[in-house]
Amino acid sequence: MIATDELRTIARQLLEGELLLGGGFLPARRNPLASPAPAAAPPPAASHVPAPAHTPVSRPAAASPTAARRVDLPPVDAAAGDLTPAGKAAAMDALRAAALACQACPLGQSRQNLVFGEGDPNAELVFVGEAPGADEDATGRPFVGRAGQKLTDMIAAMGLRRDQVYICNVLKCRPPGNRTPQPGEIVQCWPFLVRQLAVIRPKVIVTLGNPATQTLLNTTVGITRLRGQWQSLPDLSPGLGGTPVMPTFHPSYILRCYTPEVRGMVWSDLKQVMERLGLKR
Ligand code: URA
Repeated sequence: MIATDELRTIARQLLEGELLLGGGFLPARRNPLASPAPAAAPPPAASHVPAPAHTPVSRPAAASPTAARRVDLPPVDAAAGDLTPAGKAAAMDALRAAALACQACPLGQSRQNLVFGEGDPNAELVFVGEAPGADEDATGRPFVGRAGQKLTDMIAAMGLRRDQVYICNVLKCRPPGNRTPQPGEIVQCWPFLVRQLAVIRPKVIVTLGNPATQTLLNTTVGITRLRGQWQSLPDLSPGLGGTPVMPTFHPSYILRCYTPEVRGMVWSDLKQVMERLGLKR
């Protein structure tokens, strides 16, 4: 026989999940233990899925193709990690200005608005999506459509607000018809993403879906295999190598496959992130 108090607790937890993650988005299994302190060490090597020999997009890095109209990006050097909060905000503003001027690929012409990214440049947690959709293109803000509302629910379920994290995409301009980003577009936009991360130097990055995960981790392994397993960011820039990355499903996929199983998997991924960041619920 379950005691009344216990029933009340269970009901409250169910309601909490409903309220925080949206109708039916209930955690598969709630961790009854208090969250441990954030781990200082990088993710365990055992869980790392090494990048296969051939990669989905060429890594621009130093050898990136220089487009005729590529903008000069403000450098983010080894000292970026020592930037003050104001310095990080200024560095991010400078990067945004450079992205606004970028016409390195045709998306700069077809976009309505640049969708650079938003949130706290001092955030411990960064979410990286694929590319802006129609709502984002119209407003200039990432993740504001239906998928964006789901991401906002996910962030709230972690006990955070959007302005306490940083949200951005691999591409800063909308691909027409919401098609998948093309390798050439990713190559051109890549320096902006790396510099955004170099300015922030987050404690954890959550990649949403295949394009973000495969681009940042330089792998062709699919999201279904990678999600829920801590990965390690390659050495993209000083201070970024080894940053823990948690791949999870894209909010659009959650909306398309709105099953308890998928929602439970995403919630369990987010709980791992909360644990590493020492966030309590
Ligand atoms: N999907 C994304 O990947 N990014 C957005 O900003 C919106 C939808």
